[in-house]
Amino acid sequence: MTDRDLPPEFALIARYFAPLSAAEPGAFGLGDDAAVLAPAPGNEFVLTKDALVEGVHFLADDPPETVARKLLRVNLSDLAAKGAKPRAYMLATAFSPRIESAWLAAFVAGLAADQRRYGVTLIGGDTVATPGPLTLCCTAIGEIAAGAMLRRGGGRPGDIVYVSGTVGDAALGLAVLRGIDRGVAPEAARFVTDRYRLPEPRVDLGRALVGLATAAIDVSDGLVADLGHICEQSGLGAEIGAARVPLSAAGRAALAKDPSFLDLALTGGDDYEVLFAAPPGARQLVVDAASRAGVAVTEIGSLAPSAGVAGGTLVRVLGPDGSPVALGRTGYRHY
Ligand code: ADP
Ligand code: MG
Repeated sequence: MTDRDLPPEFALIARYFAPLSAAEPGAFGLGDDAAVLAPAPGNEFVLTKDALVEGVHFLADDPPETVARKLLRVNLSDLAAKGAKPRAYMLATAFSPRIESAWLAAFVAGLAADQRRYGVTLIGGDTVATPGPLTLCCTAIGEIAAGAMLRRGGGRPGDIVYVSGTVGDAALGLAVLRGIDRGVAPEAARFVTDRYRLPEPRVDLGRALVGLATAAIDVSDGLVADLGHICEQSGLGAEIGAARVPLSAAGRAALAKDPSFLDLALTGGDDYEVLFAAPPGARQLVVDAASRAGVAVTEIGSLAPSAGVAGGTLVRVLGPDGSPVALGRTGYRHY
């Protein structure tokens, strides 16, 4: 800590973080104890918080820009899955001894880039030092018409289950970064590591699903685990077809090399796609919403009364021949 070149706390906030607050007058240039914020008339706030810990959610040698953007994006992904429009965010940064001003400048540049991309503004936070690993917390604040937030628990029997984009890419990206060979071609390495480091929150899709999806969640723990959360909250079970789960070209290549990649695609976390349910009658509206949002959505299965789901698990994965696929685990668990 002794030879690090960070300015004292208040100068650090003024130099690095205050410029990011300019677009929200209620942030008072980060010069007060707290910020004030009001939603537009008829709206309410949607609030979420995620923490990233070095060595757990990102790697110590990840570029600071992508650490910053992932921090913001995992939070925006929660807002996206709830149908909310991103508005502002707060940060708590616990800097480890290795963090110096060059790292911080790059971190702030990453935040600035994604503030522009997603239309959000920093409105406050806290800055501390830690002897432990770099730890970053973000609280994201979005807005939605009062009462309209998409919930996990609104699914109904017979609803179709959809997922956006492709799954399994982030798990492949992490494998590449860890030097594990899962058959990723050299030309696909950048695509999968970007999927791990820079998830794409499906903000436009989420907003387009308001009033259409009966239940929604973002895939952060793994597809099967997160579908399980929808099932629990909806009091239902689900059945999905393993062969229907959308894979990228890199994912298909990994599956061809090793069939166990299917397990990873279904249970690996960090994809940050939107997993949602909608009644069969809304199929065309879902297709239209996805095309307006410019993101693919794929039907992967359906919700059903949980009584019909055998074996104590709420989510059944069926193989191409219709028999259940056994998974090693359902998703990532911290403990
Ligand atoms: P206090 O001691 O009253 O809690 P601080 O000195 O921690 O206030 O913070 C001063 C101001 O700077 C507050 O507006 C706070 O929200 C903001 N701030 C502190 N750290 C950060 C940070 N990492 N990111 C954004 N804003 C921050
Ligand atoms: Mg104070």
